[in-house]
Amino acid sequence: MPELLPRARASSESIFSQMSRLALQHGAVNLGQGFPSDAPPAFLLDAARGALGRWDQYAPPAGLPILRDAIGTDLGVDGADVVVTSGATEALNVLALSLYGPGDEVLMLEPVFDVYLPQARLSGARPVTVPMRLDDVSGWTLDMDALQAAVTPQTRAILLNSPFNPTGTVFTPAECAELVALARAHDLWIISDEVYDELYFGDKPTSFRTLAPERTFTVGSAGKRLEATGWRVGWIACPPGLAPMLAAIRQNGSFCAPTPFQVAVAAALPLARESGFYEGLRAGYGQRMSLLASGLRQLGATVFVPSGTYFLTARHPHWTADTLVRQAGVAVIPGAAFYAQHAAPDGLLRLAFCKSQPEIERALDSLSRYAVQTPA
Ligand code: GLN
Repeated sequence: MPELLPRARASSESIFSQMSRLALQHGAVNLGQGFPSDAPPAFLLDAARGALGRWDQYAPPAGLPILRDAIGTDLGVDGADVVVTSGATEALNVLALSLYGPGDEVLMLEPVFDVYLPQARLSGARPVTVPMRLDDVSGWTLDMDALQAAVTPQTRAILLNSPFNPTGTVFTPAECAELVALARAHDLWIISDEVYDELYFGDKPTSFRTLAPERTFTVGSAGKRLEATGWRVGWIACPPGLAPMLAAIRQNGSFCAPTPFQVAVAAALPLARESGFYEGLRAGYGQRMSLLASGLRQLGATVFVPSGTYFLTARHPHWTADTLVRQAGVAVIPGAAFYAQHAAPDGLLRLAFCKSQPEIERALDSLSRYAVQTPA
């Protein structure tokens, strides 16, 4: 009998699917996988209903021109430099297949989002991670010196995520300038995963593309922006002239992103911008973040307040993700799931606050009952 390759045998269910499955199994509130409880906005749903039955066949692999133009207008780039993908996950995979291969190294930061490592390995390259520093007073900080020291002659690209899942870090303009200087000094591509670009609580995040348009690929997600993570509409904004080659690579994956959802997103992007939808999203999530953070602090957790994303990280001396889902009725993501090459900080957990306020209240209630049952 033929056998599966070791890399296939070594693959396992993602931590996000695993925790969602356990949440269902134990009737737990799901603060694990990052998908919103709220329905997508009516203007998006109406546009999709209008597209079904009219726009049902293949789209061009680079995306429908109306959507490429809408993304281009939103980001301030030419629509011809945009490639539409089946979610940001496929966008990252297309970049992994296009930018590096055997013998190359890709720099990334740890904690690391789950698909970055396997995608780099599937391309044949070696992922090299540099840990973020974490301390209970100053929270998460970028270690520029460690990053510099990790660059070798084999390094081809640096993969960055700001706002950063799971830390919630938004790199300051000064940090972005330093990161760009590093990329220029070593002639690296910058892959900038900016799927949380509209989810921030302080200053607007700096987009790497604005600092280094010649070498930056910006990854974005309609699922994150418009609260429809299952629609699988993402994008890559490419340095000028490179989009046709990336589109040719992506046609070998899913060929094209779902056509009716592309039509709907094309209509919704300008509406979201004009109607203040993102401001509303930030205000709502900001409130839920504060509610969750203060509740967790009262239960003895150290909370690292995020500047962006809809996740917060926290440490608790007595909690593990496994016991919380089984015994406290709350699903969260273990911090260790984001570490592969370095040790995870003790007791680190990631909690999603893109859930409804009643769900967050119910989670805090369950955690406080659990805390009473299991005194330190
Ligand atoms: N980005 C989301 C998270 O971090 C979900 C990822 C996924 O399940 N593919 O929770």
